[in-house]
Amino acid sequence: MTSAEPLRILIIGAHPDDCEIKAGGVTALYREIGHQVKFVSVTNGESGHHQLSPAELVKVRRAETNQVASLMGIEYEVLGNRDGRLQPTLEARFELIALIRRYQPDLILTHRPNDYHPDHRATSTLVCDAAYMVIVPHIVPKCRRYA
Ligand SMILES: [Zn+2]
Repeated sequence: MTSAEPLRILIIGAHPDDCEIKAGGVTALYREIGHQVKFVSVTNGESGHHQLSPAELVKVRRAETNQVASLMGIEYEVLGNRDGRLQPTLEARFELIALIRRYQPDLILTHRPNDYHPDHRATSTLVCDAAYMVIVPHIVPKCRRYA
């Protein structure tokens, strides 16, 4: 089955691996029928290892996200928010609004709002708020800060 016009699907996770774990299968199916997919990690993934330093872990996880992007034929963007410290702030919401406006998705997938991890819950809140506020023209007017 193929689609006449490819959809643009944006999948937003809290950490570099959430999109793959939560939506890798559906992404493979979307890609197989020609849709475009972009993964976004809202945090840098610096906190989840017992031996590697945060800086070392960020490098490892960036390399992994690059491999995922290459294998699946997708874009993958990792934002600079710190892992384990994500809050649904206006600054973070504005960053996502700008990102959504740039990508122009037809569909956005993210974490459930009652997830076990605080970064996942914050990401869910941020994405839901950004996906609504993205239509409000004077919220995050075009500027270099969010370009
Ligand atoms: Zn996660």
